[in-house]
Amino acid sequence: MSRSFSLPALPYAENALAPVISAQTVALHHGKHHRTYVDNLNKLVPGTEFEGRSLEQIILATAARADKAEVFNNAGQVWNHNFYWQSLRHGGGGKPKGALAERIAASFGKYEAFRKDFAKAALGQFGSGWAWLVVDAGALKIVKTSNAQNPLTHGQVPLFAVDVWEHAYYLDYQNRRNEYVDAVLDSLINWEFAAENLAQAETAAKQPAHA
Ligand code: MN
Repeated sequence: MSRSFSLPALPYAENALAPVISAQTVALHHGKHHRTYVDNLNKLVPGTEFEGRSLEQIILATAARADKAEVFNNAGQVWNHNFYWQSLRHGGGGKPKGALAERIAASFGKYEAFRKDFAKAALGQFGSGWAWLVVDAGALKIVKTSNAQNPLTHGQVPLFAVDVWEHAYYLDYQNRRNEYVDAVLDSLINWEFAAENLAQAETAAKQPAHA
């Protein structure tokens, strides 16, 4: 049976992220940009070796294949956007609590140092891309990726992501990516989602490898 990819509904109303990210930006970003990646992928996959595979399987299988760049780019952008919407929430941001706060302190020192490093990565991504907090071999790291790239292809487990493509902020901030990143970090990061991802990564790391 062939399976097509679908656009997940937003986990909140289109205006839930305002005023940091306007309802207009969310509507276009989710309803047009994200949807287009899903539609493109559904045109590219049927009848190919990727039919019936999960998004993650397609991303890992195409990451190093120049002849499959279009499949990789659309699969990556579907995954990245699915993850981005979950990375944000109304009333989020600021300092995390609990195990995640301890892990951030162990990896980066004070929260303010983490915040500064994350903003630097997000601003330092030249052109389109993403900034991420990931688990890499048991340690928390901040990484940036270009275009549709994501940390899965480097064996890293993402905890949250911030989209720094211009379409994510241009209507609200024009060229002021720094203001968008600062506001997302201070008011929208879904730390509960990041903590769930951290707990899953640590549980998975304790499982014996599959034969
Ligand atoms: Mn985007």
